Amino acid sequence: MEDYIVRATAADHQIRAFAATTKQVVETARQRHNTSPVATAALGRLLSAGAMMGSMMKNDTDVLTLQIRSGGPIEGITVTADSHANVKGYVGNPDVLLPPKNGKLDVGGAVGVGLLQVIKDMGLKEPYSGQTVLVSSEIAEDLTYYFANSEQVPSSVGLGVLMEKDNTVRCAGGFIIQMMPFAEEKTVCRLEENLKKVSSVTSLLDQGYTPEQMLEVLFEDLGLVITDTLPTQFSCNCSKKRVEQAVVSIGRKEIEAMIRDGEDIEVKCHFCNTAYQYTVEELKQILKRSR
Ligand SMILES: [Zn+2]
Repeated sequence: MEDYIVRATAADHQIRAFAATTKQVVETARQRHNTSPVATAALGRLLSAGAMMGSMMKNDTDVLTLQIRSGGPIEGITVTADSHANVKGYVGNPDVLLPPKNGKLDVGGAVGVGLLQVIKDMGLKEPYSGQTVLVSSEIAEDLTYYFANSEQVPSSVGLGVLMEKDNTVRCAGGFIIQMMPFAEEKTVCRLEENLKKVSSVTSLLDQGYTPEQMLEVLFEDLGLVITDTLPTQFSCNCSKKRVEQAVVSIGRKEIEAMIRDGEDIEVKCHFCNTAYQYTVEELKQILKRSR
């Protein structure tokens, strides 16, 4: 099954909702970055949220960045997405290993205490930026807190990544539910009742629930209307030319030293880990251009 996002409304537009299956996105990220299981789960949760939040944006050129800066051994997570749900991301330390907590991957322990920053670059002079503290470092709860406190939108976020015994991704996905300002009390109550019935996103996905079926459970008796679906994928738009900027940022002195060493260098894209080679001759050209 290919990854996709479902967009929906319920209760006469009092609620808007997103649900996604992101197994391939997360498995691609795992392969690209060779992440440990807990790093895969943490990155996968943020990638799943990023894909859905990206799809909330309107324009082709809009870019969403989710950045977690935290003190845990994962050393932070960065995810970016566009409005077509192309998503990419990386963690500071892909090798982090922690003992399981309550039989589950200890994402909260890997992430640790810190901040979540959401940046939406929508082509305006100043990008929108909101920041909140991490409340549990389990990511879904942190985003729920972010939506309520930074965007003033009462929301419910569920995210999950389940691993196979061989440490590949078994299933991944999630949902984001948002209450509109005119949502009625009885709608909110009913939704809360429905949410209580869902133990976890991973349990639904593992039972083979599609995003549509997840929403059907969450919006039982709430008049779910599926608006549309769109594919989502791990996708990086890097190129040798773009990564050159990273080479330039090393500084002239460093580049000059590399040229003196007379050896080709390899620079990897942070987001997708693709390696680009630069010959001494190319380094000389870069140095010329950066003047
Ligand atoms: Zn890349």
